[in-house]
Amino acid sequence: MRAVVYTEPEKFSVTEVPDRPLAPGEVRMENVIVGVCGTDAHLHIGEFGPVYPLTPGHEIVGRITELGEGAQGFAIGDLVSVDNTIYCFACPPCKRGDFLWCHNGVALGVQAPGGFAEHTIAQATRCYPIGDLSLEAAALIEPTACVVHGLDRMDITPADDVLIIGAGPTSQILAQLVGHGGAGSVTVAAPNAAKLAVAKSHGANHTVLVDRNDFAASADELRAIAPEGFDIVIDGTGAISVLSELIPFVKSCGTLMVYGMAGEEETISIKPFELFRREITLRGSFAQSYEFARAIKLLQGGKVDPTGIITHSFGLDEYADALGSLRRPEVLKAVMYPNGPQD
Ligand SMILES: [Zn+2]
Ligand SMILES: [Zn+2]
Repeated sequence: MRAVVYTEPEKFSVTEVPDRPLAPGEVRMENVIVGVCGTDAHLHIGEFGPVYPLTPGHEIVGRITELGEGAQGFAIGDLVSVDNTIYCFACPPCKRGDFLWCHNGVALGVQAPGGFAEHTIAQATRCYPIGDLSLEAAALIEPTACVVHGLDRMDITPADDVLIIGAGPTSQILAQLVGHGGAGSVTVAAPNAAKLAVAKSHGANHTVLVDRNDFAASADELRAIAPEGFDIVIDGTGAISVLSELIPFVKSCGTLMVYGMAGEEETISIKPFELFRREITLRGSFAQSYEFARAIKLLQGGKVDPTGIITHSFGLDEYADALGSLRRPEVLKAVMYPNGPQD
């Protein structure tokens, strides 16, 4: 089969690789639609712990073509979304049920072959039927699962004022689910008017056009929305120029949520006195663990509406363009159809 294969950071080709035989409990699938994600840009430059040779692609929806010995619950032809995380179930965090911190965890598309290929092998126990979801909705299951985890970390109180920085795919899903989760108001701030319009169309109460490199210029507009600050400020950008400016917009006793992925070595400076005096909480949200079932329910129930989120699609041979699209302002979410366009 053909696959995107990295041999080292920034060096990849779309090349022929052998299909290995299935181990017990595994399934092989023909990849149908695979999300292209900001994490893939970090992997491209060697961040996020890649193991080479690497086939990236961790937001995988596929059609099962082969069942390994003992792989149960599926039939050939089933369309499934793949939870790309594999745990050891033996290390101390696994034994506590804290799988996200598994010492030996492997993620398809990061340390094991992922979805930017004609085929992917996954464990049957990590596959979820997509039911009657459209392919585009199914492509958002993995990012929605990560947002569900973020919501678990967030403790929204009814009527909270929530500010989300960024209007990329994750921020769009966050804005929708924070709104359904009881927030009093949802404000989305980003530098892109078209993406803000998508957030508005899905129910964001306020949108604010900001300059990432001059966030303070939008201070008055944000203060007019929440004069005492926002109960929860969520950074979905990972941009240091933004993260450095956010604590003053957090209400006293409020929370700053680091949801976007900053560079591994980047730093911001914080005034500990301000955390102390205003009792501010800093939180992170990294990924997801066993949140696929809830993500699928939210998509099936219309609480996450994919309309307008996926804007561009690419074929397997267009991986370089797909990666480049992450930096194009007109692209909200790109997907790959590794086996060509689907009906
Ligand atoms: Zn992703
Ligand atoms: Zn483990």
